[in-house]
Amino acid sequence: MTIIVNDVNKTYASGEVTIHALRNASLKVYDHKIVTILGPSGSGKSTLLNVIGGIDRFESGTIKVASQDLSSMKDSDLTEFRRNYAGFIFQQYNLIPTLTVEENIEVGRELSKNPLDMKDTLEKVGMYDKKDKFPYQLSGGEQQRVAIARALIKNPKFLLCDEPTGALDENTGKKILRLLKFVNETYGTTVLIITHNQGIGEMAHTVIKMSSGEIVETYDNVSPIEPEQVKWA
Ligand code: ADP
Ligand code: MG
Repeated sequence: MTIIVNDVNKTYASGEVTIHALRNASLKVYDHKIVTILGPSGSGKSTLLNVIGGIDRFESGTIKVASQDLSSMKDSDLTEFRRNYAGFIFQQYNLIPTLTVEENIEVGRELSKNPLDMKDTLEKVGMYDKKDKFPYQLSGGEQQRVAIARALIKNPKFLLCDEPTGALDENTGKKILRLLKFVNETYGTTVLIITHNQGIGEMAHTVIKMSSGEIVETYDNVSPIEPEQVKWA
């Protein structure tokens, strides 16, 4: 399930100006890795995740996931790819307020051809005893756990996490990172995490730094630290 991004360009038209959100971005992500994407606001981090996950199209270059070439897929195939391969986690948990924990996770399960077991998934994220609660009855960290379960139950090949700890306090953020690491180790899921926090970079196998749409640096951590040791900026 290697992800190979090769020379990808993506622009947005914003009135009269063209914003070059990705400039010749190239990147290789190996199976079962945790990859952190660092960089200032507006540097193209979310755009990179969105093109890898098949949310957005791009103008030139190729993205290959396993042997599939996203650039040549028609829209319906790209939707199918996204459902089966990619799980998205956002800073805002995007839970449906009128559905219980279990019903929110069921939304993810129904999208998948090959879903995981509901009870097991609830237990894995530590939310089994709160499965009948509604989002407003949960803390931020618990809501993010539900969002992770909703992505995880699809049994995705990779999780794309866009600032997953951005709205959480330090301790809760560490628990979410620990859960993502546990998912990576338990299921072998590749995890890409966008963050502003250099410390989160230290727990990843690979760190990518972006600036003005370019991937300006890529390096591997020889011995990634545990989430507990993450220093928060
Ligand atoms: P980051 O996640 O690093 O903050 P983004 O990938 O969101 O960066 O954005 C990269 C650039 O593309 C920014 O200049 C941003 O304003 C622009 N951009 C992102 N999404 C859109 C959009 N839907 N329409 C127009 N411009 C966009
Ligand atoms: Mg972003």
